[in-house]
Amino acid sequence: MSETMVYLDGAFVPKSEAVVSVFDHGFLYGDGIFEGIRCYGGNVFCLHEHIVRLYESAKSILLDMPLSMEEMGHAVLETLRVNQMSDAYIRLIVSRGVGNLGLDPRSCLKSTVIIITEQLSLFPAEFYEQGLAIVTVPTRRNIPDALNPKIKSLNYLNNILVKMEAARAGVQEALMLNQDGYVCEGSGDNIFLVKNGKIITPPTYLGALEGITRNIVIELCEEMGIPCEEKPFTRHDVYVADEVFLTGTAAEMIPVIDCDGRVIGTGQPGEMTRRLTEAFRGITHRRGTKVPELYIEAV
Ligand code: PMP
Repeated sequence: MSETMVYLDGAFVPKSEAVVSVFDHGFLYGDGIFEGIRCYGGNVFCLHEHIVRLYESAKSILLDMPLSMEEMGHAVLETLRVNQMSDAYIRLIVSRGVGNLGLDPRSCLKSTVIIITEQLSLFPAEFYEQGLAIVTVPTRRNIPDALNPKIKSLNYLNNILVKMEAARAGVQEALMLNQDGYVCEGSGDNIFLVKNGKIITPPTYLGALEGITRNIVIELCEEMGIPCEEKPFTRHDVYVADEVFLTGTAAEMIPVIDCDGRVIGTGQPGEMTRRLTEAFRGITHRRGTKVPELYIEAV
């Protein structure tokens, strides 16, 4: 099979040749932003929402975008078309670009734009059926007053520490609390609880990314007549929830059946999680933007 092509500053280059300068401030300082997007059966799920969040992150960190929002969306579609990929995880990165060794981004004359398409399942397939065991970890979420977790920046060290702590505890994923002990989110996903027929997720002001999958689940709850509230909660509330699940573009929707050694509900993925996951899967192929001229194998 031929090599995947990567979009790099307006050109398509083979994966093995897709490299950036060691003077790129994205590499030197994590100075940049990104999005993770998925394409399902030739439909880029929530492309518009991802592009909007990317440009909001850019605005917040005063990053010049070399393309308009429309051109950026088109570049994503074009990358999928060039690679003839109808089911993919897409990584869209915009870094401050090449500069000198100083922190001052004024030495960076042009932002770098990269689009990578790959096959990705964040967790091994069996966990989507059986559910995940997770832990809470000592590393706290960045406080919003410092680097606001709503900005999807390239600075993921906070999340990487959490992922390492999860691995050391022998589990796949972990939850971050904020400085006041409220639950924020996982290393790369948002959290939802089900308690007495109601759905609860933490408000993003506590310190969490405003996940696009999270927003979709909130919308689905409205459509399905399931009460859903954004409300702070603690580890205790996770332990005594009837059901828990995580959401994210890479993670999709995944049940949680154990947290810090406390079995959640029956210890099996719950009925509400199953209903919402089914509804979510149903719209992934419909809501978003179709990739034009995509050859999809006849089934
Ligand atoms: N929180 C964090 C820290 C993330 O990195 C992600 C993945 N983008 C999410 C939540 C989920 O967001 P989304 O549903 O937009 O992918």
